[in-house]
Amino acid sequence: RCTTGMKGEFDCLDCELTGMRCLECLLVTHRWQPFHRPMRWHQGHFMQRSLIELGYILALGHGGDQCPYIHDEHGPQKMTIGDVNGMHEMYVGWCRCANASTPARQLFARCLFMASLSRPRTAFTFRMLKLFHMLNHVGRITPWDFAGTMHRLTDNVNVQGCPDIYKMFKEGQRQWRVVHAWKWAGVMDPSIPRKPGSLAIPCVSCPNPETNLDK
Ligand SMILES: [Zn+2]
Ligand SMILES: [Zn+2]
Ligand SMILES: [Zn+2]
Repeated sequence: RCTTGMKGEFDCLDCELTGMRCLECLLVTHRWQPFHRPMRWHQGHFMQRSLIELGYILALGHGGDQCPYIHDEHGPQKMTIGDVNGMHEMYVGWCRCANASTPARQLFARCLFMASLSRPRTAFTFRMLKLFHMLNHVGRITPWDFAGTMHRLTDNVNVQGCPDIYKMFKEGQRQWRVVHAWKWAGVMDPSIPRKPGSLAIPCVSCPNPETNLDK
């Protein structure tokens, strides 16, 4: 229930919630939905807006609350984040406490995977990387085609105007696969040397003296 008395002028393309909301209600209902695309009713038509323009900051490190030192150093940082509905410019409010974890870990805690470890300017949601992984296996979709689809989902009219993620995505999805292979193989510390082939999944139809071959 809205108690602010502000005008309900926002709708959201990605919400199942019906009805119009005021700015405050929009921000409250989207605290955990940072990649939704709100629309503002303006002079008789809907205009697409983004949560970043409306003051949303993706807060990291404090269970969804903003870090008390969020404005230290360079303050919240602008990043490009990809989700299944396209690319989003976001202000990311890093935790800058003395005991804060690394940027990669802070993003990971919000199910975001950094595209490159050296320059954290682009990240992808786990959802998006998983979708690509499956499309790649089942439908032979290439990173190029997937990135192109993401550009079009972001802005199908002005495709050139949205950030080009191809290079970042190509590299990021490879890292994602490696991290996944570690997880499947139970690798707790990737710096420990492994035997060649230890990340491979055994083939069930190959004769194996230990399992499916008579002595
Ligand atoms: Zn309201
Ligand atoms: Zn929404
Ligand atoms: Zn903090």
